[in-house]
Amino acid sequence: MSSSILVTGGAGYIGSHTVLQLLLGGYKAVVVDNLDNSSEIAVKRVQELAGEHGSNLTFHKIDLRDKPALEQLFASEKFDAVIHFAGLKAVGESVQKPLMYYDNNLIGTIVLLEVMAAHGCKKLVFSSSATVYGWPKVVPCTEESPISAMNPYGRTKLFIEEICRDIYQSDSTWKIILLRYFNPVGAHPSGYIGEDPRGIPNNLMPFVQQVAVGRRPALTVFGTDYGTKDGTGVRDYIHVVDLADGHIAAVNKLADPSVGCEVYNLGTGKGTSVLEMVAAFEKASGKKIPLVTAGRRPGDAEIVYASTDKAERELNWKAKYGIDEMCRDQWNWASKNPYGYESPESTN
Ligand code: NAD
Ligand code: UDP
Repeated sequence: MSSSILVTGGAGYIGSHTVLQLLLGGYKAVVVDNLDNSSEIAVKRVQELAGEHGSNLTFHKIDLRDKPALEQLFASEKFDAVIHFAGLKAVGESVQKPLMYYDNNLIGTIVLLEVMAAHGCKKLVFSSSATVYGWPKVVPCTEESPISAMNPYGRTKLFIEEICRDIYQSDSTWKIILLRYFNPVGAHPSGYIGEDPRGIPNNLMPFVQQVAVGRRPALTVFGTDYGTKDGTGVRDYIHVVDLADGHIAAVNKLADPSVGCEVYNLGTGKGTSVLEMVAAFEKASGKKIPLVTAGRRPGDAEIVYASTDKAERELNWKAKYGIDEMCRDQWNWASKNPYGYESPESTN
């Protein structure tokens, strides 16, 4: 019988791509999502893309903080592991509404962990973030680099990591993998699923994508005076399909008896500036992206990129795609779905 994986936040950007890779890898996937920042259309499309494996996907519209609903789900089905994506992720919003972030991200996680423990499901893969490296003094960031938080969103990641370490300390039958993602971009090569943020995008590539399709006039470049090759911020962009594959590697790793509570970076190990990313997108799309320059965005680090050695060594996973493929697939998704899942031609 195939392993059954509960995927919280599985209707979202990274979750939907991961669910597809799980299904294609022969897993059963049960998605729990409150659809706060996603559309059920994404789940339907994943089902279609998975072909004959599509029937191994089920969806439940549940908020993680709804303990009775989660209890009921765990009582009705046995899960081999949980991949926990569900959470709010907008840095600026977290500064404005810290309690909303602590409530959703921390309470949601605590309820999930309580219900997992009560049902003897003690294998977890958690979506952490490179944001826990703050403004790194040294790059590449290794899993041993100092961690800190620059805003309430980042603090929820830091706190949840600590909660996981405490749980493992108290009960070594837990197996927990904390994945620190760098900057996920791109979309499935089919152009059928991709990122569809609500409101004004906070992140670089969703914004660039909306400029390319004419939804916004220009990209504002935050900071041109950094000590980088062209003065703009440098990040480690990773294709979302590579990132999704990293989760399959992590789930497989949970079967290793030596695993306790482990952290892995998921990045490419390469740093790319804002202007380099814009140039790659212009090449992939044939569209000119008008730029407006502005001062640095508060809380932004100068250069962040990953050391990928530990994930390569222990998860046997390595990113395959470069920025040209990321931009090609992002444009394929954007041009087919200029208004995301709500695009008139794509609604089904
Ligand atoms: P997303 O918003 O597309 O997906 C998150 C999903 O969780 C959404 O579908 C949302 O509806 C759901 N959700 C939120 N709160 C919930 C709750 N209380 N109960 C049930 N469902 C809930 O975001 P994403 O980009 O796919 O990110 C997934 C995870 O990865 C998040 O935890 C995020 O913090 C983390 N992460 C993302 C990035 C990034 O740049 N995208 C980087 C590092 C870490
Ligand atoms: N950025 C930008 N304009 C935008 C959004 C982002 O210039 O509209 C820059 C930002 O300053 C950073 C890089 O793009 O140097 C990546 O930002 P993003 O928010 O995508 O990721 P994060 O900063 O969280 O790593």
